[in-house]
Amino acid sequence: MLNATNCYVCKTCNGKISTRDIDEGTTPFGIACKMEGCKGIMYSRFYRPMEGDPPVTFEWYRRRWQWFMSRMERDHHDKGGLFLRPAQVDMAAKAIEAAEGFRRGK
Ligand SMILES: [Zn+2]
Repeated sequence: MLNATNCYVCKTCNGKISTRDIDEGTTPFGIACKMEGCKGIMYSRFYRPMEGDPPVTFEWYRRRWQWFMSRMERDHHDKGGLFLRPAQVDMAAKAIEAAEGFRRGK
């Protein structure tokens, strides 16, 4: 759902990530756990945010460059599937923060 926030929770380590859909498309029910060293699966909470959810650090986006996709990715893309990446806004904000810290001599 465009601009909707979702939370994925790992059944193995209980790790949580929050995601946002920045494009229209479908997202999978389960994804590989993003916590370091965990091989579990994180499951979607179907866009029902809860108190205590972490801030958004990943976003679901529509890929534009089809020729860089593997067959599986292409299949997913053709069915309207979105892809997950670290949230770009968040990264930009961190880069700005770092640059400002640098300027302040930190
Ligand atoms: Zn996990």
